[in-house]
Amino acid sequence: MNIVVCIKQVPDTTEIKLDPVTGTLLRDGVPSIMNPDDKGGLEIALGLKERHGGHVTVLTMGPPQAEEILREALAMGADRAILLSDRKFAGADTLATSNTLAGALRALSFEVVITGRQAIDGDTAQVGPQVAEHLDLPQVTYVEAVSLDTPAALTVCRAVEEGHQTVEVTLPCLLTVLSGAVKPRYMSVRGIVEAYAKEIERWNFDNVTVDERRVGLAGSPTRVYKSFTRGVKNTGTLHEVTPEEAVEIIVTKLQEKFII
Ligand SMILES: Cc1cc2nc3c(=O)[nH]c(=O)nc-3n(C[C@H](O)[C@H](O)[C@H](O)COP(=O)(O)OP(=O)(O)OC[C@H]3O[C@@H](n4cnc5c(N)ncnc54)[C@H](O)[C@@H]3O)c2cc1C
Repeated sequence: MNIVVCIKQVPDTTEIKLDPVTGTLLRDGVPSIMNPDDKGGLEIALGLKERHGGHVTVLTMGPPQAEEILREALAMGADRAILLSDRKFAGADTLATSNTLAGALRALSFEVVITGRQAIDGDTAQVGPQVAEHLDLPQVTYVEAVSLDTPAALTVCRAVEEGHQTVEVTLPCLLTVLSGAVKPRYMSVRGIVEAYAKEIERWNFDNVTVDERRVGLAGSPTRVYKSFTRGVKNTGTLHEVTPEEAVEIIVTKLQEKFII
């Protein structure tokens, strides 16, 4: 089974610092990691490969330093690593990012594409489903577990509000994975040594099949207009009262604001 996992390099903090002028992320000096949901996705891919054989490719679109997460993925057990990097890809919003990833996937053979449910910096959860649409693939989101019970379809357990749902999806397909579902393996020492012996392929715009007007800033219908970290509004009033009195106070407040 050929599996491609899209992984993203993100700042190692939930305390995102934004450039107040450009609205973009301040990445310098902030250590970066493989996006947690993507590491979960990679673990699911490596598990499928162990049980059913096959090949795992990791793919990232980013600046040259994104190589670090590709090396980590190789050390965890991925077979092939591709860095998609080109000035033309810079400033991409989710639509342009997904167009670029889809353009690379058109040059690869796969039965399964795996992405994380969400990146901890952009936080939109849009790229996975968008890639599936560009490639006309059936998609299953919020995936927690996957098994291959028949050669042509996966049985997938996904999280839903009421609990879990088990669905069958025909191949080829795209899955978006939740990090909490699986415990990613650690890199082995042997894996790290072999990872540094393996070549990382560097792809640019010429390697992907996509319209140039659909990548990077040019291909981004959205712009971060303004960014700011939300200050604390006001501390509010602390009432030390009985539950009944609390209900009274809340109802009065809601009535004062014409909410009820
Ligand atoms: C604070 C902030 C707010 C933003 N708001 C928006 C917005 O509202 N709308 C918008 O269009 N863009 C927005 N962006 C830009 C957006 O982050 C980028 O377009 C980004 O490349 C993809 O979106 P995401 O981070 O939300 O990823 P998500 O859609 O959350 O990512 C889902 C999955 O897609 C895969 N993936 C995502 N990016 C890559 C990549 N570069 N390489 C490989 N795999 C990848 C990963 O598997 C990831 O888990 C924002 C960026 C920041 C920093």
